[in-house]
Amino acid sequence: MANPSLLILPGDGIGPEVMAQVRRVIDWFGANKDLVFDVSEDLVGGAAYDKHGTPLHDDTMAKAQEVDAVLLGAVGGPKYDDLDFAVKPERGLLRLRKEMDLFSNLRPAQCFDALADFSSLKKDVVAGLDIMIVRELTSGVYFGEPRGIHKEGNERVGVNTQRYTESEIARVARSAFELAKRRGNKVCSMEKANVMESGILWRDVVQEIHDAEYPEVELSHMYADNGAMQLVRAPKQFDVIVTDNLFGDVLSDCAAMLTGSLGMLPSASLGLPMGNGRPKALYEPVHGSAPDITGQGKANPIACILSFAMALRYSFDEGANADLLEGAVQKVLADGVRTADLMGPEGGTPVSTGEMGDAILAALDAA
Ligand code: NAD
Repeated sequence: MANPSLLILPGDGIGPEVMAQVRRVIDWFGANKDLVFDVSEDLVGGAAYDKHGTPLHDDTMAKAQEVDAVLLGAVGGPKYDDLDFAVKPERGLLRLRKEMDLFSNLRPAQCFDALADFSSLKKDVVAGLDIMIVRELTSGVYFGEPRGIHKEGNERVGVNTQRYTESEIARVARSAFELAKRRGNKVCSMEKANVMESGILWRDVVQEIHDAEYPEVELSHMYADNGAMQLVRAPKQFDVIVTDNLFGDVLSDCAAMLTGSLGMLPSASLGLPMGNGRPKALYEPVHGSAPDITGQGKANPIACILSFAMALRYSFDEGANADLLEGAVQKVLADGVRTADLMGPEGGTPVSTGEMGDAILAALDAA
């Protein structure tokens, strides 16, 4: 069998710095676990604009469609702020998501015990937290028509349209149920069926998919505003939360921050299965290009490394190796190894990006 293929797009700012540590982790799995990837690397964002005058070259887009998974660092930076909207670095990322039809965005909120003090919530509320928000990513109010700003009489009116088809709801619901089967077997679906017709349809379709295809998974429904309250009141009641694009945008940021630093947060965006059964997939840290610390060796590579762990789990069915990698990260944090973003009020000496990579590789060796 051919090796699984990975396209690496380090991007801008700290993207290449954190991705260099992921490359070391990928090499470690090749050398120690007989898990060898065919890795190719290309440009995205400002780096692609500098070379090609576009934030994503057509050849790179074509490669992304062919590989088993794409791993992206970050895009953007002040150098590109004045560019035309159509060639801004972020457009490269949006084009990848759109053309790969990545409709299911997975945002885990997992609290590593060693970092429980970093949460703004009480330690006992977040310690051991492990939830997954599944956000619909390619439809809903961010894309619905009509949209725009027009004049009515003497004043301007802003319009956006929340629109979902049954099939759009059904496919993201399936994605959530499939995930739940590999985790705690519970899905909570969030919408505003009390005030929105699209919410009524959302609730109906999620229930129908459940009853017809996933009766063994525990399903509950919650209004999204209550969901926001419950997330900060008692987040451990949830396993998988599935919700639309707009509510998911807000709720996933809220849930992510339960766990502390932006430098710790991975994500996955999945599409339909390809011919080989693997879903179209893009894995990336939640953080951006962090221009304020670029080139200083301060970036925390863990979000990007955990994004690779998600790729192992969701694209390559390598759950045991994903556990191994996440365990190594947990061990390093428990040992008190910290990049600057993870320094608490008690202080200490932060390690560099490369030293965090060293520590994680050492923990993998020792596991
Ligand atoms: P950001 O995520 O880049 O940074 C926010 C803060 O968090 C900064 O202080 C940064 O130093 C810190 N931070 C982020 N990641 C870190 C890490 N791994 N280790 C340590 N500290 C980290 O967000 P921003 O400053 O609002 O945006 C900067 C640029 O990134 C902008 O051009 C923005 O458009 C872009 N951006 C890109 C993405 C993406 O590629 N997916 C996401 C968000 C922002």
